[in-house]
Amino acid sequence: MLKITPYIGILVLIVSVAGLWYPILGYFMLLVFATLLLISPFRGRWFCGNLCPRGSFSDFWVGKITQNKKIPPVLRSFWVRIPIFLFMMGFMGYRLLQTHGLVNQIGMVFVIMCLTTTTIAILLGFSINPRTWCTFCPMGTLQHILGKDKYQVHLDEEKCINCKKCDKVCPMQLDVRKSLSKRDCIKCGRCIEACPKDALAFEN
Ligand code: SF4
Ligand code: SF4
Ligand code: SF4
Repeated sequence: MLKITPYIGILVLIVSVAGLWYPILGYFMLLVFATLLLISPFRGRWFCGNLCPRGSFSDFWVGKITQNKKIPPVLRSFWVRIPIFLFMMGFMGYRLLQTHGLVNQIGMVFVIMCLTTTTIAILLGFSINPRTWCTFCPMGTLQHILGKDKYQVHLDEEKCINCKKCDKVCPMQLDVRKSLSKRDCIKCGRCIEACPKDALAFEN
């Protein structure tokens, strides 16, 4: 199975920082959007746990400096997530309309969006938990909606010994066995690897 690596995370820094001098790098964001839109109807938030550069950066780099606190449950609420989604998409659309189709200016809109959201993700990741941003990231919310209940982690209750090792390794701080029908699983597979009884597995 494809695994998220620390190296993918470097891409988010390249786009956010080098993009200020080379706005063309901002178009990388379009590749990200297209990839997650293609995958999510079949695999839910799989992109978040396996390919997203910012997810990788959060896990492997912010994870080294985080306070590792509990993510506030309110951030998972759609009363928070939908307004953030609408605001950010609306703001990006408004900025794109102001570019008059100029290639570098369009690229710079994406660069600034990437830099802004990455900065927020790092601050939240440091002060709370590496994946705090991912609980309400607009692209995570979109995948949550498009993915519905696709590719969920299935629990074999007869094998489970209630050791809770699965919960301890979940980067999204899900209650793994109670969240099996929830849509914010990022399909990282860490709970499956941690289970000593092979009680967990992905199912379509
Ligand atoms: S929630 Fe957003 S930042 Fe986090 S892994 Fe998914 S797409 Fe990337
Ligand atoms: S429930 Fe398992 S696969 Fe899903 S995010 Fe948590 S650890 Fe990863
Ligand atoms: S790690 Fe496996 S055995 Fe332990 S609580 Fe989770 S599902 Fe059950």
